[in-house]
Amino acid sequence: MKVLVTGGAGYIGSTVAQQLLDAGHTVTVFDNLSSGHRAAVPPGAAFVRGETLDRAALDEVLVDAGFDAILHFAAFIEAGESMREPGRFFRNNVTGSLQLIDAAVAHGVGRFVFSSTAGVYASKDSPLLETDPVGPASVYGATKYMVEQALEWYQRIHGLRVAVLRYFNAAGAAGTRGEAHRPETHLVPLVLQVALGKRREIAIFGDDYPTPDGTCVRDYIHIEDLATAHVLALGGLAEQPFMRFNLGNGAGYSVREVIESARRVTGHPIPAVVHPRRAGDPAILIASSDRIQAELGWHPQHPELDRIIESAWRWHLAHPDGYGDGKQ
Ligand code: UDP
Repeated sequence: MKVLVTGGAGYIGSTVAQQLLDAGHTVTVFDNLSSGHRAAVPPGAAFVRGETLDRAALDEVLVDAGFDAILHFAAFIEAGESMREPGRFFRNNVTGSLQLIDAAVAHGVGRFVFSSTAGVYASKDSPLLETDPVGPASVYGATKYMVEQALEWYQRIHGLRVAVLRYFNAAGAAGTRGEAHRPETHLVPLVLQVALGKRREIAIFGDDYPTPDGTCVRDYIHIEDLATAHVLALGGLAEQPFMRFNLGNGAGYSVREVIESARRVTGHPIPAVVHPRRAGDPAILIASSDRIQAELGWHPQHPELDRIIESAWRWHLAHPDGYGDGKQ
């Protein structure tokens, strides 16, 4: 298939773009490089720099190009930031997505794979099912759910075939691609920056949550397993017009357990200090991925947390300056 990957210079988008190429698809990456890295775009993909908020730029890419599918990763992703700057998130994540979806329909693109998040759910102390009620704790989660709802209507009205993938916590590295944001806010890379000597300590955002050790529990999924699900979902749209899947390993780890794992993997003591809670963090998010396992035969190949962190650690050791573009 001929596919457009928005956000294909980012951590998840670039890894999926590579897997799509490996599976024989033709890939164009569309990214504004606000947080992505030009060097992360696979060499086999075409690259267009542009904004999803810019309808003219989208039209230029899509007109007469014959794209079969769009995989839409481009978005602001930090829940904590979304609680300080909601307008930026609504504009970029909702308005930008609606521009893209409209452009997809206008140019006859038949399939749409959307990056959603576990952040659409409220905290639950057992694995979340796709049928569980939503209840976003952050503006970020709310923006993703708003786009999901729009996509349901576009499916019904325009026949756009849609796969919504709700990611739990992506982590780890895939070959030359790893997680490097600027500023970095994610737990795994931050913990590893302490082990690299780039930070003195890791802040634990709250230890008074209703969890076994008081810190937030998340379900960490290896980036390669996450990427594989996209390739399967793209193919699965031939059979099903609308799909919604959780993507995680079904196992929850607390912030303290992640730090412990990084201590084992790196051999570094990784000092940790408790800070107040960060706004927009649900206590517990664990995926049931039974649905995608049953319907598309997806099976995570790298479910162990230590191995996930080990792959991230190897990447950080090999790329101490990230992509070398200052964005890390
Ligand atoms: N977290 C933390 N210290 C940090 C960064 C994150 O304690 O420096 C916590 C955060 O509050 C959340 C968990 O680690 O409970 C995972 O956060 P991350 O930002 O990696 O992913 P999210 O779950 O927000 O998508």
